[in-house]
Amino acid sequence: MNYLPIFLKIKNRKCLIVGGGDIALRKFSLLNRAGAKITIIAPDLCNELESQAATEQVTVIRRRFVAEDVNGYSMAISATSDRVVNRQVADAANDSNIPVNVVDDPDLCSFIFPAIVDRSPVIAAVSTGGTSPVLARLLRERLESLIPAGYGKLAAFADDFREIVKQRVPEADQRRYFWEKTLLGPVAEMVFVSRDREARRLFHQKLAELSSGKTVPGTVYLVGAGPGDPDLLTFRAMRIMQLADVVVYDRLVSPEILGLVRREARKIYAGKKRNDHSIPQEGINELLARLAAQGKQVVRLKGGDPFIFGRGGEEIETLMEQGISFQVIPGITAASGCSSYAGIPLTHRDHAQSCAFVTGHLKDGKIHLDWERLIVPNQTLVIYMGLVGLPQLCAAMIEHGASPRLPAALVERGTTEQQRVICGDLETLPQIVEESKVKAPTLIIVGNVVKLRQKLSWFEPQERATTNLPE
Ligand code: SAH
Repeated sequence: MNYLPIFLKIKNRKCLIVGGGDIALRKFSLLNRAGAKITIIAPDLCNELESQAATEQVTVIRRRFVAEDVNGYSMAISATSDRVVNRQVADAANDSNIPVNVVDDPDLCSFIFPAIVDRSPVIAAVSTGGTSPVLARLLRERLESLIPAGYGKLAAFADDFREIVKQRVPEADQRRYFWEKTLLGPVAEMVFVSRDREARRLFHQKLAELSSGKTVPGTVYLVGAGPGDPDLLTFRAMRIMQLADVVVYDRLVSPEILGLVRREARKIYAGKKRNDHSIPQEGINELLARLAAQGKQVVRLKGGDPFIFGRGGEEIETLMEQGISFQVIPGITAASGCSSYAGIPLTHRDHAQSCAFVTGHLKDGKIHLDWERLIVPNQTLVIYMGLVGLPQLCAAMIEHGASPRLPAALVERGTTEQQRVICGDLETLPQIVEESKVKAPTLIIVGNVVKLRQKLSWFEPQERATTNLPE
């Protein structure tokens, strides 16, 4: 080990920065965040540093550095582009046993700065010992995605309960196990979304559970799994999928995404193919409530976003009625996913100032849509569940005043390796789709924005043929 990692308390301590440019500014911000009393020595300061130094508790000395300047400081940082000055600072600091950092010159440093992930009071620091700052940064980025944004809040929460838990759970192993479960489970998830009261209530229940043996009900998480590509999951969705005891999923959830769920979790298929409701909706609502009442952490995994044509509202209504705690984790809805991956922006300055999401699901073979409000100029229409009704939908739009030449596209299995995009217009699309033997799920996009695909298409999985707009 070439360096000893430590965390230094510099609040209200005198720290010296030599230099007044951009690099000095970065070090200034860092020291400032840690509460240091900063002195800057430099003949000139860049504008940003000038304005920040004016508003903070900062001393600015406008001249070149001299060796005696280091006296009385807890640390010195040299951030000039002048190697002679940098060396002077390093030598002077070393002579006085003051820790010194020279930016971008590890040979002159007695300490180096790590790349940090700041979730104060939790801080993760990464160093490559000065060998590759880029590598340190890449590692830091990975940590950023692994450590939830609310981790600092969680640390503070745990701190509040430390003594109580120590008293109530005297045995060290048992206490560690309790903390592990708590810091990974539903209590932590409540803290992350700032539902502190709920988190505290749950925490006390969990503590009581230890001594009484009484089961604490689980939480139900309605998780949006996005349109198909597993990379489009949110960090939050991914994390919650790891704490599931049971997952109730529907047909839109791709096998790749299901494969990312905690391996030990029980997986229940809830159907949702057209005309094949493996479990009817009321059954799903009840099932979620029953599993949670048994103390299970339940993940209800749904395609796209749970609140867009996902019946998410109905599912949580039942939970609400039964007093079961729940959370909703948004996902990328099919409209966003498919339009992005098809190169069809849903709005565009020249073509569409608004966009409507509608369901094309037929009730008793009929469409029930308010066409007057939907068929308006400069509006994009996105139709979910519109494959079966496509001929009727296109005919109805023409009947209500849309031009038969209005561009329209069908995106099949959007964002996946099997994505296909079929373009036409209101008159031609049904026929082209019929000939193309498409498979669900498919999304229909109607409006002049569809023309942009010719220029903006970027995702062509497996080089599959696509049908383009007629000239
Ligand atoms: N909650 C989901 C929508 C559920 S309704 C969401 O926010 O995306 C089911 C409809 O979504 C399908 O009929 C289809 O129109 C659309 N859909 C979902 N995933 C899709 C995908 N990968 N490609 C195309 N359409 C999709």
